[in-house]
Amino acid sequence: MANFENVVVETDLLILGGGMSACGAAVEAAYWAKQKGLKVTLVDKAAMDRSGAVAMGLSAINQYVGLKDGKNSIKDYVDYVRNDLMGVTREDLVANIARHVDSTVHLYEKWGLPIWKDEEGNYVHEGRWQLMINGESYKVIVAEAAKNALLQTGVGEIYERVFIVEPLMDGDRIAGAVGFSVRENKFYTFKAKAVMSLMGGAVHVFKPRSTGEGLGRAWYPPWNSGSSAYFTLKAGAEMTCQEVRFIPVRFKDAYGPVGAWFLLFKSRATNAMGGEYMVERRPELENWGPYGRVKPIPANLRNYLGMLDVMEGKGPIFMRTEEAIQKLAEQYKDDEKAYKKKMKELESEAWEDFLDMTISQAILWAASNVQPEERSSEIAAAEPYFIGSHSGASGAWVSGPEDLQTADTKNDYFWGYANMSTVKGLFCAGDASGASSHKFSSGSHAEGRIAAKAAIKFIVENNTMPNVDQAKLDELKATLLKPIDLYEQYKNATTDPEINPNYIKPKMFMFRLQKLMDEYAGGVSAQFTTNKACLERALELLAMLREDAEKLAASNLHELMRCWENTHRMWQAEAHVRTMLFREETRWPGYYFRSDKPKIDEEKWTVFANCKFDPNTGNWEMMTRPIHRIF
Ligand SMILES: Cc1cc2nc3c(=O)[nH]c(=O)nc-3n(C[C@H](O)[C@H](O)[C@H](O)COP(=O)(O)OP(=O)(O)OC[C@H]3O[C@@H](n4cnc5c(N)ncnc54)[C@H](O)[C@@H]3O)c2cc1C
Repeated sequence: MANFENVVVETDLLILGGGMSACGAAVEAAYWAKQKGLKVTLVDKAAMDRSGAVAMGLSAINQYVGLKDGKNSIKDYVDYVRNDLMGVTREDLVANIARHVDSTVHLYEKWGLPIWKDEEGNYVHEGRWQLMINGESYKVIVAEAAKNALLQTGVGEIYERVFIVEPLMDGDRIAGAVGFSVRENKFYTFKAKAVMSLMGGAVHVFKPRSTGEGLGRAWYPPWNSGSSAYFTLKAGAEMTCQEVRFIPVRFKDAYGPVGAWFLLFKSRATNAMGGEYMVERRPELENWGPYGRVKPIPANLRNYLGMLDVMEGKGPIFMRTEEAIQKLAEQYKDDEKAYKKKMKELESEAWEDFLDMTISQAILWAASNVQPEERSSEIAAAEPYFIGSHSGASGAWVSGPEDLQTADTKNDYFWGYANMSTVKGLFCAGDASGASSHKFSSGSHAEGRIAAKAAIKFIVENNTMPNVDQAKLDELKATLLKPIDLYEQYKNATTDPEINPNYIKPKMFMFRLQKLMDEYAGGVSAQFTTNKACLERALELLAMLREDAEKLAASNLHELMRCWENTHRMWQAEAHVRTMLFREETRWPGYYFRSDKPKIDEEKWTVFANCKFDPNTGNWEMMTRPIHRIF
C-alpha cells in the first residue's frame, strides 16, 4: 500500500468545509466553545480565503430581509421561497434563516465588506431582497473573521488542503471523518463528538456546455463536487429534494450573472426575431397551477418560457444590454455632458458587475469585442447543478427549530437539535441542508451559525467521544489510497498512462458520468427532458459506473482528489436519478421536464420526495414527507 503517514486528530466539534456556512459555523462555535471549554476543528479541501462558491467574489448579497426597516416580514420571505420552489419548501427552516440573516449581513459590514449605500445612507438594493456590494474580496473578509474566531480564541484549529472522503460511524452516531492531504502523503483521521457537513453542492455531474479549451468553465465553480451529499448519504442520513436541480440562465459561455441586468438595469431578453418570451409566452404560465400566477414568476418558469423559444428554433436569446443602458441614460439626453457622464457610469457598473464575481465573463467580452452599451449579448440555460442554498433545494433532511413548530409540524420536522440530520450528531447547513432554498451566501452563513450553536448544545448533552473501530479505519485507509496503488501496479502495461485495460483515470470517468447524465437524466443535449425509460437506463449505466469506480487510478495526490471527487459526483447523480424517477410529475419545467408525466400533480405530489441509502444493506429507500404550511 502507498506510504502515507497517519495523522489522528481528536476534537469536540468537527466542521467540514471552509465556505460560507462553515465560516458562519466557525464564528458561532468559537463563541460557545470558549464558554464550554470545547475544541473546534475546521477542515477545508482548499484555502479558506478563496474556497467554495464565493471564491471569485460576488457583486450582490442575495438574502437581506431588512427586518429593522419594517418593509419586509419573515412571512414575505417564506412566501417568496415557497412560490419560487413551486410549493415545495420547509417553512420552518426558511423562516429560521430569514430571522437571523440580517445580523449576518451587519457582521459582514462590521468586518469591512463594502455594501453600497445611497445618498441617505441606506443600502442600495438590486432587488427586493438583494444588496449591492463591492464583493471582489467578499470571501477573504468572511474567512478572516472565521479564522480569527477559531485561532485567536485558542479554541480551534484549521486544516486546509485536506480532502474529506468518508464519514466515521459509531453505530447510529457520527464519530468523525477521514480524508487525505492534497499536498503531502498524509492520511487524516478526525474523531469528533459532533460533525458539521458543510462541503457545498455539486457541479460537473452533467456534461457542461463548455468543452475542450473551455472545460472547467461552469456557472458553479468546479471545486464543489458533491462531497456533502456523499458524506450524508454514506452516513445513512435521509435526504430531501434530490430531484431539484438548478439551471441558471446566464450570459452564454462565461456564465456571467444576469441579476444586475434584469433587476438593476431593467433589461429585456429577446429572441432572434425580436420577440420577448416573457410577454409572448405568458399564457403558458396558466398551466403551472397557482405558481404561474405569482410575482416574481418562479425562476424555473422564467427559464421554461425562454427554452420554449429555443426549442422552436427562435434562439439565440439576447440580453438587450445596449437598449437598457440607453434607456437609463435617456433622461440626460438634453444635456450632452451629463449624458456622457451617465453613460460612462453605467458602462463601468456593467463591467464591474462581472469583475466582482465572474472575471471570465469580462475577459470573454473583451476578447470578443463586446461593448455592452453598443451590442447585446447571448444568454443561455446552463447545465444542471446541485446547489440547495441557491435556487435548487437538494440536501439533507434536517430538524427545524423547536419554537417555530406547530401541532402539525412537530412530529415531522423536529427531532431535538436545529439542523441535525437524521443521523445523531451530524449537522448540515448551506448547500448541504435541503428544502430551504434561497439562503445564498448570507443565509448560508446564518444557517452555519444556527447549526453550530445547536451542535455545541448536542455535544454538551452527549459529551462522550464515540468509538471508532481500528480495523474499519485500516480498511478505509486502504480504500482511499487504492487509486494510487492501482496506478503504480499497472502504469507500465501501456505506453499511454491515460489508457490502460486495468484502470480508469478520473477524467475519463467524469466524462462517462457526464455523458450518461446528459443523455438520460435531462441535460443540455436532451433539452432538459427525461422520462421513466431514460431514468431506468441511467440507473443501469450508473450501476456499471459504480463497478468501475473500484478501478479508478491516480498518478499523484491531485488525481487522487479527482478520483474521489468523481465518486462523490456519482453518488449525487444516483440520488438525483432515483428521486426524479420517484416523483411522477413535472413540477419544475425549466429545471427538468418528464415527458411521460408532463403535468404538475398538485393532489398527489405536493409532498417532499426523500431518499435514504442504508450503508449496512446497500439498499435505497424512497419515501414522501408532508409539506406543512406554517405562514
Ligand atoms: C456562480 C454562483 C453565483 C452566486 N451568486 C450569489 C450572489 O450573487 N449572492 C449571494 O448571496 N449568493 C450567491 N451564490 C450562492 C452562494 O455562493 C452559496 O449560497 C454559498 O456559497 C453556499 O455556502 P456553502 O457553505 O454551502 O458552500 P460553499 O461556500 O461553496 O463552501 C463549500 C466548502 O466546502 C469545501 N469542500 C468541498 N468539498 C470538500 C471536501 N471533500 N473536503 C473538504 N472540504 C470540501 C470547499 O472547499 C468550500 O470551502 C452564488 C453561487 C454560485 C455558485
